Amino acid sequence: MCDLKGQYTKIKPEIDSAIQEVIDSTSFIKGKDVNLFQDNLAKYLGVKHVIGCANGTDALQIALMALGLKPGDEVITPDFTFIATVEVVALLGMVPVLVDVDPLNFTIDIKKLEEAITPKTKAIIPVHLFGQCANMDEIMRIAKKHSIFVIEDNAQALGADYFMENGSKVKAGTLGDIGTTSFFPSKNLGCYGDGGALFTNNDDLANEIRSIANHGMKVRYHHDRIGVNSRLDTIQAAILNVKLKYLEEYNRARIFAANYYDSNLKACSHLAVPSRVKWSNHIFHQYTLRVIDANRDELVKHLASFGIPSMVYYPVPLHKQKAFEPYRAVNGTASFHVSDSLANSVISLPMHTEMDESTLKFICEKTLAFFK
Ligand SMILES: *Cc1c(COP(=O)(O)O)cnc(C)c1O
Repeated sequence: MCDLKGQYTKIKPEIDSAIQEVIDSTSFIKGKDVNLFQDNLAKYLGVKHVIGCANGTDALQIALMALGLKPGDEVITPDFTFIATVEVVALLGMVPVLVDVDPLNFTIDIKKLEEAITPKTKAIIPVHLFGQCANMDEIMRIAKKHSIFVIEDNAQALGADYFMENGSKVKAGTLGDIGTTSFFPSKNLGCYGDGGALFTNNDDLANEIRSIANHGMKVRYHHDRIGVNSRLDTIQAAILNVKLKYLEEYNRARIFAANYYDSNLKACSHLAVPSRVKWSNHIFHQYTLRVIDANRDELVKHLASFGIPSMVYYPVPLHKQKAFEPYRAVNGTASFHVSDSLANSVISLPMHTEMDESTLKFICEKTLAFFK
């Protein structure tokens, strides 16, 4: 599904010397590369504060803690996402309220989102799924109207552009109260292990986040609140500093591959190529098709027989996960027919920064052959 080796080979000397420098310095924790990377990413995103942490799941958890949410508070998330988005809500004793998604762009359904708001709702976590943004103009409008916080889960769309209704262009993840991301190796900006970050334009929130991620302290060994230990490793920050320079190029390579898939697959009546929304570009963390009137699981097997990997993101929507049984009643009679149908029909094809035309051609030919 990805080619991390091919990507590394192209920048090996830069990466190797960045890692070696950290080892020589022995500043493994909070070395200079951590601050440098936070500053560089903040500049790239056009956001005031970037705070590194251990992974994207921690970033979401720290965001909920920094906003001062309490057990029993309701937090709205899409039903069709990676478990991390919702897991942290439940872990903190809050109540996850799941909302169905849009059938075309797979992000949270705006109409159903507003219907799910109750007096207990304290936050919404939209997910910019597969590399394309949720409709942030609408989400911010709804959040403002009901005085609720917005945490953007931007683990899959780091570097995507968001085009606001007022005509300005901003980077994904910078419109909500807090944005979070993950540097898991296969993400659009991946490190060589685990890593994550939070972004905010709010100075007070930034201070809270830094303190929470550091055992709840502002002054050393004086703990103001219960926090966690969540740091971005210096070695990972050094790697990310190198790779951040290539992020735009990497995202362009993904867009190239997606356009190639599109032009070869869109004529097939059994496949729906990914739709593009008008408010965001798509940087294709995943290239996800919907299979129509054909057996998706057979297609997966057919591709595998030619050595072509494919994945189903996500085969079980959150409302059907065993772990969320205790929260089922909260969702009442809400309908999840879109996420249910997506779970049965989506397939993601190989998508990474090193895809060449001959590989893409082979994958497209074998995909189309299945429907002949
Ligand atoms: C990857 C991912 C996360 C979690 O990131 P980790 O670094 O693996 O903890 C959270 N949300 C979404 C949507 C993701 O894709």
